[in-house]
Amino acid sequence: MSYIASILNNPIEYLKGVGPQKGELLRKEINLHTFRDLLEYFPFRYIDRTRIDKIRHLSGMEEFVQIRGRIVHMEVVGEKRAKRLVATFQDETSRLELVWFQGWQWMEKSLRENVQYLVYGRMSQFNGKLQISHPDMELVTEETAEGKQTLEPVYYTTEKLKTRGLTAKAIGKLSRNLLEQLSLAEIRENIPAQVLQQYRLMPRSQAYFKIHLPASEEEAKQAQRRLKFEELFIAQIRICRIKLRRHKNSQGYVFNAVGDVFNTFYNDHLPFPLTGAQKRVLKEIRKDTTTGRQMNRLVQGDVGSGKTMVALLSLLIAIDNGFQGCLMAPTEILAQQHFKGISELLKDLPVNVALLTGNVKGKARKEILAAAAAGDIHILIGTHALLEKEVVFQRLGMAIVDEQHRFGVAQRARLWEKSDTPPHILVMTATPIPRTLAMTVYGDLDVSVIDEMPPGRKPITTVHRTEYQRPQVMGFIKEEIRKGRQAYIVYPLIEESASLDFENLTKGYEEVKAFFPEPKYWISMVHGKQPQDKKEANMHRFVTGDTQIMVATTVIEVGVNVPNASVMVIESTERFGLSQLHQLRGRVGRGAEQSYCILMTGNKIGKDSQERVKVMVQTNDGFVISEKDMELRGPGDIEGTRQSGLLDLKLADIVQDRAMLAAAREVAEKILTDDPDLALPENQPLHDFLATQRSKSAWSKIS
Ligand code: ADP
Ligand code: MG
Repeated sequence: MSYIASILNNPIEYLKGVGPQKGELLRKEINLHTFRDLLEYFPFRYIDRTRIDKIRHLSGMEEFVQIRGRIVHMEVVGEKRAKRLVATFQDETSRLELVWFQGWQWMEKSLRENVQYLVYGRMSQFNGKLQISHPDMELVTEETAEGKQTLEPVYYTTEKLKTRGLTAKAIGKLSRNLLEQLSLAEIRENIPAQVLQQYRLMPRSQAYFKIHLPASEEEAKQAQRRLKFEELFIAQIRICRIKLRRHKNSQGYVFNAVGDVFNTFYNDHLPFPLTGAQKRVLKEIRKDTTTGRQMNRLVQGDVGSGKTMVALLSLLIAIDNGFQGCLMAPTEILAQQHFKGISELLKDLPVNVALLTGNVKGKARKEILAAAAAGDIHILIGTHALLEKEVVFQRLGMAIVDEQHRFGVAQRARLWEKSDTPPHILVMTATPIPRTLAMTVYGDLDVSVIDEMPPGRKPITTVHRTEYQRPQVMGFIKEEIRKGRQAYIVYPLIEESASLDFENLTKGYEEVKAFFPEPKYWISMVHGKQPQDKKEANMHRFVTGDTQIMVATTVIEVGVNVPNASVMVIESTERFGLSQLHQLRGRVGRGAEQSYCILMTGNKIGKDSQERVKVMVQTNDGFVISEKDMELRGPGDIEGTRQSGLLDLKLADIVQDRAMLAAAREVAEKILTDDPDLALPENQPLHDFLATQRSKSAWSKIS
């Protein structure tokens, strides 16, 4: 039986109980087009109706109750608009009241005294009496005499659907209609048997029935578990396949040699021994560049973990193999910093390093462009100016993108076009994303992690201070400056109001100035609204130590390296997310001195802010913080996840179910490693399932 012929492809209106009008509504309101859509329209919770309560045992504190008994008296009370129907309901233990404020005329006609009803509803108390308003009323049948056999699924519905009779309950009825005419064989397995067994997952067909009609909480849970796993597993299979395909198809340069430049630098000029993590990642890069396939690797490493050195050594390998390399940074200042640092490190080697940013103009620019095209420049460092068409290389073999989250996928693709065979691509990011999530959102990128800090770093001391303590905080900064250190004071960006933002900052600036008067102290101020050259000039004065204090908005968040700065004061900490706080804190603690991060808040702060502050004070570990950030904010707010298409998940939640996500990832990788074309008999179900799936265009966009 093929999927095409399956009744699951039938238009929803053909289902018993639907018809053209309701069909139209279901399509428009909740996007149900086919039988399959309804089958996949899962309840969001269940009501336990397997139990019958005794009225005498009810305290009024219960949320929902189910009782069985009969109406002994009914009457309409109240005047005009306050009219309502009140029924006295009795079981073998006691009595309570059922009340209808709306639709009571109809209820009065249809309800009967002295027959057995099963009543279900939300408990309340009125004038000390137990009451249920607008309960569900069902005549007791043989089957329901001892309660119902299943949990009752509750489906999401809309106001509009409700007014047309498509209540949660009615939708439940439709899905029962569907399940009644569906044979188990219609729902074919798509997970290999061995995996089902390993993770103790119920068969697919069973899961679809049980999720709609579970006999117990446990059964509902198991059905959900199975379907969540499926969702994550299929997603991972897709991602891994895209990656495999790209590996197979993308020719890359082969870097066979580790030659003079690399060796000379490594043996004679390396300023410090590499950390184990740096070595490991470098090996991974080495390996990638010898396979004959294009490398697409993401290096994730916390702020200060030493990504630049890994980048530089990778560039040297390219040079030793007769290629050019480029390093692209998200800001002018960062590009300059890289240029300065790398030029200095390579000054005794025959390597030609150049800087190209928007500020390099006229003759100088022409010369650089010509030299890059002629192959005379070995390493070109720059901003996104590097992406422009006029930038041509003779033989670009390695392109490195620093702080990748500032660059879009499309921009990265433009780098590939700078060479017939695309260059190897290395993207580096300090935006901490939990490992499993990184693998997922970065799709076809291979991920390396620098999970070790260079030795000798003193952990940054982080403290929480409130407005009351401002004088002491300022005094502390003074003390640090006296010791020759520098300090950042950062104000939040208030996105809704740029002018308020500026006001905030300038007010802060004036305040700081009052504490730190010229000419004893000099202050730099940097914000997003400044013209580029002014911004850079102010930044530069801080970098060179001409100013001791940098007052700024979050423009300084990424990459800036001023090892002499030892204090980071974050104003209105409440307004920052955890990841951002961590990034900002990473601006200090880069030198040999003990550094401090001071989180300023109002005297009273909310619970969430309190939690964030607590996490910051407790840990310096970017991965721990990113996990926590995800818990607090949900994955939707984590950089990169929003566009990933992965959040279309119906059941699984990549935060709560991240252990399952990791397992699904592992299984998917293993299956595709052993059987890339899914040709083995045990993978047949999976193969067939994927072949019949509607193509989901979102997947091809992941990078
Ligand atoms: P990030 O990963 O944030 O880009 P950087 O590459 O800027 O970090 O490195 C941060 C600082 O650590 C720099 O001053 C760098 O020279 C230093 N560093 C990098 N690797 C090591 C190492 N293995 N040992 C000691 N210091 C190191
Ligand atoms: Mg860096």
